[in-house]
Amino acid sequence: MDIQSKLEILEKQARQLEVLDERRGQWLTAVNNYGHRLLDGMPTRKAYQEYDLETMSNYTFEIQDEPTAVETVIGEVEEWIDKPGLNPASGGHIGYIPGGGVFPTALGDFMAAINNNYAGIFYGGPGAVRLENSLSRWVCDLIGYPKTAMGNLASGGSIATLIAVVSARDYKNINSTNVRQSVIYLTEQAHHCVQKAIRIGGLGEAQLRYIPLMDDYRMDVDALRRIVAEDKANGLNPFLVLAAAGATDTGIVDPLDEIADVAEEFDLWYHIDGAYGGFFILVDEMKPLFKGLERSDSFVTDPHKGLFLSYGLGMVVIKNTEAMYKSHQYKPSEANYMQDAANLVEEYSPADLSPELTKHFRGLRMYMPLKLYGLNTFKAALEEKVYLTRYFYEKVTELGFETGGYPMLSVMMYRYAPKDYSLKEANDLNKNLIEIIKTDGRVFVSSTNIDGVFWLRLAVLSFRTHKYHMDVTLELLEKGITDL
Ligand SMILES: *Cc1c(COP(=O)(O)O)cnc(C)c1O
Repeated sequence: MDIQSKLEILEKQARQLEVLDERRGQWLTAVNNYGHRLLDGMPTRKAYQEYDLETMSNYTFEIQDEPTAVETVIGEVEEWIDKPGLNPASGGHIGYIPGGGVFPTALGDFMAAINNNYAGIFYGGPGAVRLENSLSRWVCDLIGYPKTAMGNLASGGSIATLIAVVSARDYKNINSTNVRQSVIYLTEQAHHCVQKAIRIGGLGEAQLRYIPLMDDYRMDVDALRRIVAEDKANGLNPFLVLAAAGATDTGIVDPLDEIADVAEEFDLWYHIDGAYGGFFILVDEMKPLFKGLERSDSFVTDPHKGLFLSYGLGMVVIKNTEAMYKSHQYKPSEANYMQDAANLVEEYSPADLSPELTKHFRGLRMYMPLKLYGLNTFKAALEEKVYLTRYFYEKVTELGFETGGYPMLSVMMYRYAPKDYSLKEANDLNKNLIEIIKTDGRVFVSSTNIDGVFWLRLAVLSFRTHKYHMDVTLELLEKGITDL
């Protein structure tokens, strides 16, 4: 067959990918119906649905040569993806760190997916890049960074943290000649993505110092100062300190301003992890907790947690944009096909500030909710989460539970430990309370282990979580300890 005849046949088939017929409407309607079904059913759906491990492990999603009807695919999603396990969109999700996934995230994703705008390089997608950079700038302003600071919209807090750690590494000239003498300061409360970023960022051989915690699980800054000074006196190279503005396990905010003093005194890069707690800075009453944030060098916050977006957006902002750029820029000489783009410097390109080049245009998934609701709604929702946690704290204390202290934000620890119980007996009792809650399924709680003590955790951050869910949890806990 000659080329032209072959092309005629292939074009006819390939044009199937462009949906210009009634199929577009059919597919949209089917997905739209799915969305309504899902959201309308949310209040009655369980937060956790038990499933058969073997059945799930054996199920495979098969790819075939011929097309499948949209209803069939959606049916498969509903049965095999939406049903089993944790329902992260449920208001009953009060474990780990929830968020929920506000609807306009989906609208922004949908628009970004069909326009397929390019948010990697300013030259190609100036509007898309301007939007992403404007959102980073907005967070910079929120936390008091100077106008020259910049950020990046990554896929989540872990990649955002990696960008910060790598920028710190290069800015502080940590390399194979000095990595073993270089020291990083953090606490046991640091999220494990920090250790991962350190390892992936080639800092696995650096020395990690776990700074002792005070009774309220915050970093002991006197100990930090003493340990850094000792290291320095011993000829080591202290270069990075990491603090939490909302630790995942305990919900505490480290003494940010005091840690900034130490960072300045010893010339350390100061990173603050606000993946969970960062957006509470929007709540007036919470602002004092964040004093000192503006003195940090880098900061991470997760819009897919604190702004309730669907999963897929973590943000890093860095005060020294040049440091961020130096670590992540591409070398035009190694990518000749981008030479058209290489000479433009009007606006930082996300591709020069992160490991990613081509990526999902994430700006719209954040912009749509912020614009459609307005900030006041977010502020109220965040404040509600704080007050729900305080409500829970009071009630659970009345029930005789021990707690990890008064909640600073919207995460707290609690456990039931009768006086005559050994540690093991108390741990088993609390594990059993989790099972009771899991079997009921209306709410989903998680746990943590601190120095061998098993704690239940409350994490209120789904926009769908309200007083009802606190009351259900309290009711189940009360029943669990009464039936002992
Ligand atoms: C969730 C979380 C992270 C990790 O973020 P991902 O978006 O899950 O990658 C880092 N730090 C803290 C404090 C977190 O709560």
